[in-house]
Amino acid sequence: MTNLVVQKYGGTSVADPQKIMSVANRVMKRVRKGSQVVVVVSALGDTTDRLLELAAEITDSPSERELAVLMSTGEQISVALLAMAIEKLGGSAISFTGMQVGIRTQGSHTRARIQEISTSTVLKALKAGKVVIVAGFQGVDTELNVTTLGRGGSDLTAVAMAAVLKAPVCEIYTDVDGVYTADPRICPDARKLDAISSDEMFEMASLGSQVLQTRSVELAKKAGVEIHVRSSFLDKEGTVIVNQADALEGVVVTGVTCNKNEAKVSVLDVPDRPGIAAKLFKMLGAAEINVDMIIQNISRTGHTDITFTVPQEDVKRTLEVVEPEAKKIGFAGVQADKNVAKVSVVGAGMRSSAGVAATMFEALAKAKVNIEMISTSEIKISCVVRQEKADKAVKALHDAFQLGKKRQTSSKVSKKKPSGKRS
Ligand code: ASP
Ligand code: MG
Repeated sequence: MTNLVVQKYGGTSVADPQKIMSVANRVMKRVRKGSQVVVVVSALGDTTDRLLELAAEITDSPSERELAVLMSTGEQISVALLAMAIEKLGGSAISFTGMQVGIRTQGSHTRARIQEISTSTVLKALKAGKVVIVAGFQGVDTELNVTTLGRGGSDLTAVAMAAVLKAPVCEIYTDVDGVYTADPRICPDARKLDAISSDEMFEMASLGSQVLQTRSVELAKKAGVEIHVRSSFLDKEGTVIVNQADALEGVVVTGVTCNKNEAKVSVLDVPDRPGIAAKLFKMLGAAEINVDMIIQNISRTGHTDITFTVPQEDVKRTLEVVEPEAKKIGFAGVQADKNVAKVSVVGAGMRSSAGVAATMFEALAKAKVNIEMISTSEIKISCVVRQEKADKAVKALHDAFQLGKKRQTSSKVSKKKPSGKRS
């Protein structure tokens, strides 16, 4: 449907009744221009956090099923209020929960994956001239349990709705006016990007840029949905996430990100023989712990240390899973260090450029930031550093790759043949 638009409003955009009225106004403007509008909303303000705090006051280990039931209530409040607000403005609207629109999920209760969405309910309501308001972040599994899609999951709901309804664009309204070269709170001269490729956005999201949920970017890429990130408070173009793999604007590095929510876990004195790493990471996989960077030291004594990073929220579980295996696997112990941060540079242009790693390490050295772990992919390089040095590192990298407002045209890294390895 070409006159259809899917819009998503985040928690800060619907934090109070006044803001909900202004979202309703924005939606009605689109309706008056002749668009059919499907709106996905998050819970008001920090409602989800407060619901989780409530649960924590009852128990340390709530069941995942009940957590999903609890968290999903937040979005149910917002859809009803927004529907009322639109009707108050003379529009016609109808709200639906995830279950009502048939968002079928599979997998865990609180990190469920969307399997399918039936479009009939939404299409019928659109046909009747209504603005359709869908609760973000939630679905229902085959046993009719309410499920949630992981934190930030309203983005995923919006992209999935745009995909099944074949909407030409999915507009994500948030409290920032787009995607920046770095967090402007750390780098005041960070630039807003007019466009970014979906590959780069995927990396930025998974490496710590908080603008979009990572899974939503992945789905948008797979389903060919164009995302437009923009501010719900300003009337301004934001950042378009274009579905292409190539670098835009011919730049090598597009952005710098920082993630302070990871921890470094070291398994000490692991026997250096085939099958040990497999055992270790199989256990972590079975516990649904998302391991990110992994390094193994060289072994001189037949033993080695394996160090990896996990989200901080998974540290406790990681230790619970790994520690009891010490005897069986034969390692000496496990250590967790939460005082780390991962800083990364991202850019599709790295595929065809040499010297990015050298520039990055030089910049960190000059800023006296020690590198503890390194990992690379085709389009990103990440370093683990001390957390208190993270902001300094981000600034140094933003400067070194000339990403700021006073960006110069000459680039420090030399172009070379594609397919070459970075140095
Ligand atoms: N309210 C949910 C959360 O805070 C989903 C979302 O905002 O996208 O994670
Ligand atoms: Mg969000």
